[in-house]
Amino acid sequence: MLEVKNLRAKYPNETSLLFKDVSLSIQQGEKVLLVGPSGSGKSTLLQILAGLIPDVIEVPIKADKRKISESYGMVFQDPDAQFCMPYVDEEIAFVLENRNIPQQNMASLISQYLDRVGLQLADEHVSIQELSGGMKQRLAIASVLALEPEVLFLDEPTAMLDQVGTKQVWDTLKEVSEDKTVVIVEHKIDHVLPLVDRVIILDEIGAIVADGEPNDIFSRF
Ligand code: ADP
Ligand code: ADP
Repeated sequence: MLEVKNLRAKYPNETSLLFKDVSLSIQQGEKVLLVGPSGSGKSTLLQILAGLIPDVIEVPIKADKRKISESYGMVFQDPDAQFCMPYVDEEIAFVLENRNIPQQNMASLISQYLDRVGLQLADEHVSIQELSGGMKQRLAIASVLALEPEVLFLDEPTAMLDQVGTKQVWDTLKEVSEDKTVVIVEHKIDHVLPLVDRVIILDEIGAIVADGEPNDIFSRF
């Protein structure tokens, strides 16, 4: 379970508080969409739920940070900013090596993780820069899956993609997220709604103004 109680945060260079006593818990297996205007604190909230405290100076959090941060994966807007290695196979291998996976299991596991996101490549030792935007983001998802995280955080993962790439990414996420807790920040919500069972809406100052099932939430607006 992910939980924050009476959350308040303030960035050092800001005068006003972000979040005013926000309390929120997310159960294992829930698929949550977080929406709200730009600047409402969505990205900050994702990081806090992940146990990553950015340069926030005032954050009383009740959560087992250690446990959470050991089993989450985060996907960002810009896949290029996320890659550690120049080649597709190396990118997944990097994660597997961090998990101390024995060398003899590498090749088959790399193929399995790429398969799971629909990246069937004739040659897996291909430069990441040769991939399309949608393929890059699916590679980013594959490398996060290779962490075998319990919780998947996605911060506007399709913001930089065209329609084709966007659809590829959401189709992929529908496939891979079944057994996971998933928390998504996304503006373009049409593709996301079929994936989630809960929507949380934040207002400008990061207060929760709605929290419920997608059908209930959107019939009220
Ligand atoms: P959202 O994801 O909803 O756009 P963010 O969490 O990115 O919101 O930002 C919330 C507020 O905190 C904004 O006013 C933003 O300017 C501020 N903020 C975000 N990150 C930082 C930072 N590293 N330093 C200072 N202020 C920040
Ligand atoms: P520490 O301070 O103990 O190094 P970190 O917060 O850097 O802790 O990382 C904790 C764990 O979370 C590590 O196992 C790290 O690999 C993992 N981790 C860090 N950043 C990310 C991320 N963006 N996505 C997935 N896992 C991450």
